[in-house]
Amino acid sequence: MRFFIPEWDDRVDPDFNFRTDAHSDAHNANPVNNDAYMWDIFGIDQVPFDGVLVSIATLQGTTTKYKQIQEEGIHRFLGLPPNFPLMADCGAFSYIKEKIPPYKTADVLKIYRDLGFNYGVSIDHLVVPAFQDQNQDRMRITYENGVEAYQIWKRKYRKDFQLIVAIQGAEIQDYLKMYNHFLLRGIRHLAFGSLVRAPTSFIARLLDALIEDIKTTKVIPEYLHFFGIARCPLFPKFRALEDLGIEVAFDSSSYLRKAWLGAPSSQNNYLANDWSGYTAIRIPQDVPKKRREFLDSQTYLQSARVCMDTLHAYDEGTVTLDATIELLKTFNTLIGERTDLIHYYKRTLENKRWQSCDCPICRKTGIDVAIFRGNNRNRRRGFHNVRVFYQMLKDPSRWELCMKREDDELDAVQTENSLDFLKNERNVLIITSCTKSKLGYDDSVSFPAEDMYQGDLFRKVRNYAEAMHFDYVIISAKYGVLHPLDTINGYEMQLKTRLDGENIRPDVERKLQAMISPYDKIVVIAGESYRRVLKNILDKRFVFIKTRGIGDLVSVVGRAIPNKNKNLTEFY
Ligand SMILES: [Zn+2]
Repeated sequence: MRFFIPEWDDRVDPDFNFRTDAHSDAHNANPVNNDAYMWDIFGIDQVPFDGVLVSIATLQGTTTKYKQIQEEGIHRFLGLPPNFPLMADCGAFSYIKEKIPPYKTADVLKIYRDLGFNYGVSIDHLVVPAFQDQNQDRMRITYENGVEAYQIWKRKYRKDFQLIVAIQGAEIQDYLKMYNHFLLRGIRHLAFGSLVRAPTSFIARLLDALIEDIKTTKVIPEYLHFFGIARCPLFPKFRALEDLGIEVAFDSSSYLRKAWLGAPSSQNNYLANDWSGYTAIRIPQDVPKKRREFLDSQTYLQSARVCMDTLHAYDEGTVTLDATIELLKTFNTLIGERTDLIHYYKRTLENKRWQSCDCPICRKTGIDVAIFRGNNRNRRRGFHNVRVFYQMLKDPSRWELCMKREDDELDAVQTENSLDFLKNERNVLIITSCTKSKLGYDDSVSFPAEDMYQGDLFRKVRNYAEAMHFDYVIISAKYGVLHPLDTINGYEMQLKTRLDGENIRPDVERKLQAMISPYDKIVVIAGESYRRVLKNILDKRFVFIKTRGIGDLVSVVGRAIPNKNKNLTEFY
């Protein structure tokens, strides 16, 4: 299995001073030429990946940089030997909203050749729910581009680079159909796209279907790439493909980016070799925005400096854990940070996993690798994570560790398709969602949340919770978590995309964590996009009510409302 790392200017200052937070002179003179990539840090023989994936869209983003690449070639620009596998694609996410990709096959193949790439991907167009009405067009565009790329490549660029033809689909049958059409045309190097947001179970079924197809037809591709997915539950299936004689590859930057994008409560900013994860300790470089009114910069910088010095001293063993934690508590209050983070910080500090990591980053950087503060610490932590991931990938006996952790997350939550199991429960919190239908849609209207929402699901949940004497809260696309009596203004916002959910997630986590501890059961009656917002705070007490659709969910709740209130509900 080959793992490619997508390249998005992931560089650090190799001589950054972690004690004074000062950049090196070389960095200040020319960061593009003097900063270090992951391969500079680990050494080319020790890089934790088998190739680098570069998007033409990213390269062309900066004119001077692109000019330099055109002059030097991509390998020299990145400081990699000429035989190091570099793959180029067009960066389909950059034009996801366009009807037609802004590239022409003939131009793109020439760019791949001119810049000296080893692999180049045909121009594809992502098939995603947001543009569902264009599914057929996008698949057709991807297919026609693939055929055209193969014809031109065969004629002109065969000796220059290996063409990889992209496949897109909505359903498994779409993928298989396009895959087989390409095989019929003699194409043997293929890549599957639009899987980044697909559930692991969907990709697993796709892989099963592929394996089945190959065993039946006996037509064996040479190379299959899967874009944007690094999920350990799929590794055994990748290996089954390899056993059929196929070279399998995938790429993902998720382990790199968890270092700074992972929510504190998910405890995956820093990954240890045994696949346990830790929260990075947040000491921002400047006063957090929300505190600027109350906190002057000078006071803040002094406090942050004391924290940094204390953390260094703790790492060296001259300050105790308790004293360090006390200081971080005070600091958190000063910057208005969540108090519950201290619990995660304590775990990070107690375990000191960087001290037992043999990577050059942890050895040289020490505790700074576990501190959330600026590019030089955060990206180094990401580099370390990529190495831990790669070592796990190359050692199948450790795949279980990774799978176990994934299981613990979203999929592991208990699900029910009725509310019968709550009949004898007393200490229950219901979490439901806001609804599109409201008493008003702008600031001129204000009501308690329990009255504002007029949707069927909300009204049924309210009646049910009141009749059962259960507490309930509402996740609102605009307000985060609401108590039924909170007064709110009307609004239009809805939770549609994953990004909408990510926007409210920190706030939802903070509020819910402060209130969920007294309950024995926490029951979520809301659609998929709302459930996803909760992914980092789930525990054994959570139950998802899942049905085939919102309509079914409404009737499940309706049926559960105790009889004495039923007439009233129907009267509504
Ligand atoms: Zn390390």
